[in-house]
Amino acid sequence: MATLVTMTPQGPEPPVAPVATGRFAPPAERRGWSWHLGRLFGIEVRVHPTFLVLLAWVALSHLMHGNDVVTAVAGVAYVVAVFAIVVLHELGHALAARRFGIATRDITLLPIGGVSRLERMPTRPSEELLVAIAGPAVNVALAALLWGALTVLGAASDVTRLNLIGGPFVAKLMWTNIGLAVFNLIPAFPMDGGRVLRALVALRTDYVRATDIAASVGQVVAIAFGFVGLFSNPMLVLIALFVWVGAQHEARAAHVRASLSEIPVSRAMISSVVAASPDEPVSSVARHMLAGFQDDIPVVEGGVLVGVVGRGEVLKATIDGDPGAAVSSLMARDVPSVRETDSLDEALEKLQESGRRSIPVVRDGALVGMLPVENVAYLLQVRERTRATLAHGGL
Ligand SMILES: [Zn+2]
Repeated sequence: MATLVTMTPQGPEPPVAPVATGRFAPPAERRGWSWHLGRLFGIEVRVHPTFLVLLAWVALSHLMHGNDVVTAVAGVAYVVAVFAIVVLHELGHALAARRFGIATRDITLLPIGGVSRLERMPTRPSEELLVAIAGPAVNVALAALLWGALTVLGAASDVTRLNLIGGPFVAKLMWTNIGLAVFNLIPAFPMDGGRVLRALVALRTDYVRATDIAASVGQVVAIAFGFVGLFSNPMLVLIALFVWVGAQHEARAAHVRASLSEIPVSRAMISSVVAASPDEPVSSVARHMLAGFQDDIPVVEGGVLVGVVGRGEVLKATIDGDPGAAVSSLMARDVPSVRETDSLDEALEKLQESGRRSIPVVRDGALVGMLPVENVAYLLQVRERTRATLAHGGL
């Protein structure tokens, strides 16, 4: 992801450690504001407004350096072309993930690169390998295509005249693709190369150990970048910091996932929940909500879960709609649910896919509780504190 940040794998991300950088985009709705650009292969493409600031900056800096308007327009066109390439890179990840049944919520362009928010990360190393490598593979394919175009046009000699900054437009784009492929294959999180490395190691050992190894390699890369950067380019020092934090985050997320996979849902769920019946009026459900802490109220008919209604929907209906309407008219049907015996990492993944703050827990279709995301975070904190206490002599 040359774009420093591209694919955003998002496994069951611990609620305490959201990823803000890109990489694997956080599943939660915390992308900030961005504008809808269009859809490609059914995937929404968005752009962050600061991207326009970048375009304006490129145009202005050309003009302020005494370049003519044509050069300034060419400069802007180049930036737009680079970001089109970044979108194709992200599509590479997204379409590879789709092959394994993983949807992508959207692709967002930021001035530092692109981010695709996958619904979840592939769990099998072979799948992660293909999803991670698909982005840089797109750049390699584009570079080959552009090389072919230059050859056909008889302009292949341009290639030798080019560098990343100057040179003919098509040749410049070809080098940009090569640059993006190489940069993203640096074996360090959050770049694609970090994931490729982890997946390769995970083919031979377990996932957590593979992540630790890949994170350590990434930190060595970060130290090397930082050291070289100190004597040359301050940007490299920034990238080094980014890579260092990426490694720590990835390692922590893998450990959290592993520790959640050992805990059943029953340990973190709330068993005394307020539920509504489908024909209950919205106003009555609103009263239950205001009297308690539940963000989501399960709707149950004869003990069987038939839907869920959220705090926002109920309050909106109370104010703007008909408070006397049956709650079944508001509720979401076909909501995902988990079983008490499922592991918390699977449950957290489903919870994040659902976009809600809690998920119903069922036994043979009958509702037995709710699992709120806060409880998972709380349980993790308690476990970490308990471990720390034991490590200090059991006090
Ligand atoms: Zn990528």
